[in-house]
Amino acid sequence: MRVTFTPIHKRDKGISGTIAVLQDVTEQERLEQSRREFVANVSHELRTPLTTIKSYAEALNDGALDERELGQRFVGVIRNETERMIRLVTDLLHLSRLDSNQATLRRQQTNVPEMLEEVADRFSFQMRKKAIRAGVRVEDGITSIWLDRDQIDQVLDNLVSNAIKYTLDGGRIEIMARKTDANNIAISVRDTGIGIPKKDLSRIFDRFYRVDKARSRNMGGTGLGLSIAREIVKAHGGTIALDSELNEGTTVTVMLPIQAGGESA
Ligand code: ADP
Repeated sequence: MRVTFTPIHKRDKGISGTIAVLQDVTEQERLEQSRREFVANVSHELRTPLTTIKSYAEALNDGALDERELGQRFVGVIRNETERMIRLVTDLLHLSRLDSNQATLRRQQTNVPEMLEEVADRFSFQMRKKAIRAGVRVEDGITSIWLDRDQIDQVLDNLVSNAIKYTLDGGRIEIMARKTDANNIAISVRDTGIGIPKKDLSRIFDRFYRVDKARSRNMGGTGLGLSIAREIVKAHGGTIALDSELNEGTTVTVMLPIQAGGESA
């Protein structure tokens, strides 16, 4: 709460009263604080790969280039770090477009069972590598809904790729769709993975929030996947929720209106 006092002057009579203005600044301060945190996070996330690239480039310059195998390894590290930065900047640009509502939705009638089968197909190689079994289950009667296929594909890709990243070898991933009422469908991605501790659940959709930063980085994550997913779903007039049990698994559920809602193209 901010309080400002302004004296009231009357001609020849000096101060005859005071106006007190009470202003609620908590929301403003909260926004300012999260903006500062965001800038600090972006700087840190960019600085880390840049520092690595610099030191590996220096090592190459100082002689590693003369040892073929070592040189190749160092160039590999530089390439990986560059790719990480490209992913990060691409995600940031996408988020910024979603924030400023410039991301107009290009909705099209989309067959839900087909869309879910296709996302499972896209990841079948990665799942096979980890011996993860996958299943797609769509309730009878669900056919088409009106959505931006590219954007929702990106949401599903994020959720399935997280499910794979955070599930140990031999686990199971289920992609499901059901009608919750006459107007909405729920699409869920459930895994039997490592789960998320209760204390982290409330912040999991925050930008750059990760349960284990090092693990997420090693897996190539930017910490922005769930935030982007939430913005895309919001633009569709839907909601996204995450439910998790540590060491048992995680379910992320996206609720979408069957008829176009929210901001449409
Ligand atoms: P990241 O790029 O780190 O995966 P996300 O925004 O997609 O970023 O996810 C944020 C964090 O939420 C992850 O770092 C991870 O700690 C946690 N998380 C997301 N999905 C899962 C999941 N299916 N199982 C366990 N943890 C998850």
